[in-house]
Amino acid sequence: MKESEFAIIGGGPGGIAAAIVAAKAGVKVTLLDENERPGGQIYRQFEKGYKVTDSKVLGRDYEKGLELLRQFSSLSDKIRYLNNATVWGIFKSRTLAFARKGTSSSLSFKNLLVATGAYDRPVPLPGWTLPGVFTAGGAQRLVKTERVLPGENILLAGTGPLQLVLAHQILNAGGKIEAILESGNISKNWLRILMGIWGNWDYLKEGWRYLRHIQKAGVPLLRNHIILEVHGDGQVEEAVIAKVDKSWRPKPDTERTVKVDTVCLGYGLVSSTELALLAECEHKYELCLGGYIPVRSESMETTVPGIYAVGDGAGVAGSKVAIEEGRIAGVSIARSLGYISDADASTRIRIFQKHLNKFNRLRRVLDEMSVPGQGLYELAKDDTVLCRCEEITLKEIKKALADGTIQAKDLKRMTRIGMGACEGRMCGPALIEIMRYQPNASPEGPGYLLPRPSIKPIALGVIAASKQEE
Ligand SMILES: Cc1cc2nc3c(=O)[nH]c(=O)nc-3n(C[C@H](O)[C@H](O)[C@H](O)COP(=O)(O)OP(=O)(O)OC[C@H]3O[C@@H](n4cnc5c(N)ncnc54)[C@H](O)[C@@H]3O)c2cc1C
Repeated sequence: MKESEFAIIGGGPGGIAAAIVAAKAGVKVTLLDENERPGGQIYRQFEKGYKVTDSKVLGRDYEKGLELLRQFSSLSDKIRYLNNATVWGIFKSRTLAFARKGTSSSLSFKNLLVATGAYDRPVPLPGWTLPGVFTAGGAQRLVKTERVLPGENILLAGTGPLQLVLAHQILNAGGKIEAILESGNISKNWLRILMGIWGNWDYLKEGWRYLRHIQKAGVPLLRNHIILEVHGDGQVEEAVIAKVDKSWRPKPDTERTVKVDTVCLGYGLVSSTELALLAECEHKYELCLGGYIPVRSESMETTVPGIYAVGDGAGVAGSKVAIEEGRIAGVSIARSLGYISDADASTRIRIFQKHLNKFNRLRRVLDEMSVPGQGLYELAKDDTVLCRCEEITLKEIKKALADGTIQAKDLKRMTRIGMGACEGRMCGPALIEIMRYQPNASPEGPGYLLPRPSIKPIALGVIAASKQEE
């Protein structure tokens, strides 16, 4: 089997930025992404049937993305781009397996970059399985890429800036928003806020623009509020909301019901680390960066030599951070393969690192305001389903916890939580939080649900039709 000098999993800003710098230095790059077209989450392109006549309508992010994507496609003779390629496993032999066009292939690599991004943090609460309850990212995809509104009267509940982005996009598409609930606490440490914002003026301008739009549209932005429950007969009909304290616990006598047909839950993002975990990279727990994330050196290398991780999949920090991290990884790999000198690499990394520090300063301030409070994980009731694939309720989890289980992987074996098609993406993040707050919790934390190949649903027939990459 031919070995790839540099394989990248993920065609978002992080993976693309790494591919561009490495390919320009002469490295032979193979980039695999599960989507039809490159761009990842933020620069997601439209399906081929759509034609964009005025890209300004789609915002600055879309335009910035186009520039990165233009550079990427101009290097098509140097970058082997495999679209519709879902990587479903990484094995000890420095080989990855991917499904594409109805068959499964394997690819061995010398260096690997995991740039798999993030997904919405799922929050189990009574009624969260009702039709009409979306994650904010799911709703955003409908509005942004499919040009479809998720409902007629929408409640946004969650925390952080992505809620404002979604509200702006729904309003632009002509949708009606009943209210936006923000559970986070605005820090009173103005000096820290100022230091974080300093230099990040375009972020600030963007945020201000969204806030003005929301205000002008007359949408109530209810700070220190949370959604407690969703009710409805086969479909969302109403939501119960309340004011919260600093731990995000509901304040007494503040509950009220709002009539809505759609609820979008946007409690931040969780890093997509299944492949880095399969590759046996060491992980550490950072709740505000997306849960368990790979431990990395300054060159973005994980604890497994030759395996790098960047972007939201290595700690949720936004597209600008993903791009700079991708560039650092790309240059580091070009240096390790001898395509560029140590001196050249160090000069370039210093510049990327400087940008990174600026973006990370702002990120830390935003994280502090929107790190999920304990109250969020007290919303589920005994009969609330935690694991939607295996239909496991909180009551069943509580029983296993009462039996003394303190490791997530043991709980998985005992109850089957996380063994379904989503491989724990929907239940894992909440389970870890619920376990962390148990009185008998292990001081090292509960660990993760230990993913197994295939990390994404792949038909057995596809694996049976395996072939080796040439
Ligand atoms: C749902 C959602 C909505 C967001 N909305 C906004 C927004 O409105 N504004 C904003 O500024 N930021 C937004 N963000 C954040 C922004 O998208 C990210 O910060 C940025 O895209 C990170 O870039 P990345 O390269 O790390 O990952 P991504 O852009 O997520 O790219 C990762 C890529 O890897 C692919 N991938 C993952 N696993 C596999 C696999 N096993 N095999 C093959 N391919 C795989 C994914 O499909 C994706 O194409 C959003 C993020 C999410 C998750």
